[in-house]
Amino acid sequence: MHLNIFAIIISINFCVGKRYDKYPLLRALPSSLDHLEFFKNVSDIYDINYWQEPGLVNMHVLFTINPLDSYKFVKEADSRGINLTTVMKDVQRSKVLIEGGIHAREWISPAFVTYFINEIVKAPESKNKELKRIALTYEWYFIPVLNPDGYEYTMTEDRLWRKNRRDGYGVDLNRNFGAAFGTVGVSRNKTSAQTFCGPQAFSEPESIAMAQFVRGLKNQLEYFISFHSFGQLFIIPYAFSTKHAENFDEMKSIGDATAKKIKKRYGHKYMVGTAFDTVGIPTNEKEIAFFSNLSKLYEVVYWRRTVVPNKPVDFTISPTDLPRFLDSALDSGIPLTTLIEDVQSKSDKYDETYCGPSAFSEPETRVMAEFTRENSKNLMYYIAFHAYGQFFIIPYSFTPKQFDNYNDMVKLGYHVAAKIHKEYKTEYTVGNAYSCVGYLASGSSTDWVKKAFKTKRHDKSSYDVI
Ligand SMILES: [Zn+2]
Repeated sequence: MHLNIFAIIISINFCVGKRYDKYPLLRALPSSLDHLEFFKNVSDIYDINYWQEPGLVNMHVLFTINPLDSYKFVKEADSRGINLTTVMKDVQRSKVLIEGGIHAREWISPAFVTYFINEIVKAPESKNKELKRIALTYEWYFIPVLNPDGYEYTMTEDRLWRKNRRDGYGVDLNRNFGAAFGTVGVSRNKTSAQTFCGPQAFSEPESIAMAQFVRGLKNQLEYFISFHSFGQLFIIPYAFSTKHAENFDEMKSIGDATAKKIKKRYGHKYMVGTAFDTVGIPTNEKEIAFFSNLSKLYEVVYWRRTVVPNKPVDFTISPTDLPRFLDSALDSGIPLTTLIEDVQSKSDKYDETYCGPSAFSEPETRVMAEFTRENSKNLMYYIAFHAYGQFFIIPYSFTPKQFDNYNDMVKLGYHVAAKIHKEYKTEYTVGNAYSCVGYLASGSSTDWVKKAFKTKRHDKSSYDVI
């Protein structure tokens, strides 16, 4: 029976000392006290690392051995009649590399990769035959946290830090690799931008170590999967282009099959495609122009307009215009698959933003409304807390327009934001939903309270802000 070697690289940039590439993993079964004694002393003679130390007669011993020593050692063991199997003799198995935590704040990624390691390590004993087969077919490599200093920083200083910690400002490691480096979706502004790509490709120890490691796997690497959050997306290379890679269809079919299984098991809907297909992000000026001019040609309502590259654009389009629009998108090299689907799901009750059959159809909203009506006489402030993001969102969320005491509330928001920034260095954005998060939504609690009770703060020269 073969056993997989799991290279668990906690932080590969620290691993610059001795390496164990090509060291075979050997398994022996000492069947007598003599044999057992031999294994207990063998590390004095050969370059050996025990994975499972010699214990009792008829208990397995597992160890790696320096390839230079292995021939001599195997011969000697054989001459003593020791039952010895090379566990890792099949070094030609296809390799799978799983990467996690390249973006510091995406905590679910290292957590999932760690869980995944456990699943694969325990798979040989698993009753799940498919899992067992997959675990034993491939040689697995895991990098649970590619960005360790950034990850630590999110625990201690800034929960939403994304980059590494290069000189305090940090580099977005997922923009630092040498693939169309520095061309799209990156920033050159090192102090403020979340997507600062670094001064040149592979300027960072993390990306260098990762590249070196991948090169070491040569052409045996069959799968590479990088886990991020958030969103339900399978993003297929290349992210720097709207064009599809040569084996796009193959990858798409793997993604589609996986998405189907996830949907069946958990009801979650995953989208499959390139970054452009799935996130619907124009990457250059030409594409921005394409999206900006849609309303001249079709019946289009923008939900989120695009003004800069690599920011999503959301819109609805009339069904009669749709075929013509899709043709022209395809002609312009813009494969567009997802945004339309998203909007349609508004009427799908399994969707995350299903609003119910009518206003106040739910007991929770009815109770809330009743309570507010009963207590509305002296209601001066109404605040609803959400996660995540740093925003003060001011009513109304269903329109880009600003109403009556909007400026007053903005002023209050900025006042609070300034205090928060002074204390925690966290930056809050103040405005209505349209200006803060770039989309409109109807039926929110804050909008209802404001509309129903005209909640206004009194004009005060100083604020009661704690
Ligand atoms: Zn990410």
